[in-house]
Amino acid sequence: MRLSGKTAIVTGGAQGIGRVIAETFAGEGATVIAVDMTKPDYTCEGVFGYTCNVTDRDGLKAFVADIVGTFGKIDVLINNAGITRDGLLQNMTEEMWDLVCDVNLKGVFNLTQLVAPLMIDQGTGSIVNISSVVGEYGNVGQTNYAATKAGVIAMAKSWAKEFARKGANVRVNSLAPGYINTEMMKTVPDKVLDPIRQKTMLGRLGEPEEIANACLFLASDEASFITGHCLSVNGGLRL
Ligand code: NAD
Repeated sequence: MRLSGKTAIVTGGAQGIGRVIAETFAGEGATVIAVDMTKPDYTCEGVFGYTCNVTDRDGLKAFVADIVGTFGKIDVLINNAGITRDGLLQNMTEEMWDLVCDVNLKGVFNLTQLVAPLMIDQGTGSIVNISSVVGEYGNVGQTNYAATKAGVIAMAKSWAKEFARKGANVRVNSLAPGYINTEMMKTVPDKVLDPIRQKTMLGRLGEPEEIANACLFLASDEASFITGHCLSVNGGLRL
């Protein structure tokens, strides 16, 4: 029970990686609030669904007030909600750029700005930003997505420095998944995925459970001396 007694928020928790993180954390004793713009539908014990868009700053304020009112504290924040709107640079509209930045980058800023002061006041906390291998190395057709996923790594490093300066034991890390079997990958054709499988040392895509387990490690006290780090979980894609 690595998260026994902890309260954790997971954004984008209705499906995919976020959903499996929420279920994994609940299985380790956490009370989990899975927040998503689509109503999360949970039957799993220990997970509570909450509907909110991470771009809605007023909505997030009400959300955090509700969580603190109900559960008294927030120990773990997983900034997982993310979207793609792909296109080569010359075809990428301003709308595609703005939307991806609003959700993937500003959404992380919005919620962390509300949650971090609570963690600093209580003196402990763990935050994980879900990045991507694309944020580490870039990708054709993903100018917007790559920029945001590199951005959340830089935000985690900046916050690791800021929060430590205040003497609080609030750790902030990022986790960069490779290509993982979720709805997001269903839009990617096999002609793109097959070469990725070939370039991955383990010869396959990852499973959401493999990301959730790495995220559990970073969120838990097992990673008590790790902050400002980006953990790559990609099956050896970049070796
Ligand atoms: P997904 O599309 O299956 O799930 C994303 C969830 O985020 C959805 O439930 C969606 O409703 C929610 N969401 C989207 N916009 C939101 C908003 N504005 N406010 C609140 N919730 C919102 O995606 P996934 O594959 O599970 O990816 C989860 C995270 O992992 C994303 O940040 C993604 O960029 C990252 N990632 C995924 C992969 C992969 O291969 N699947 C690889 C690297 C990184």
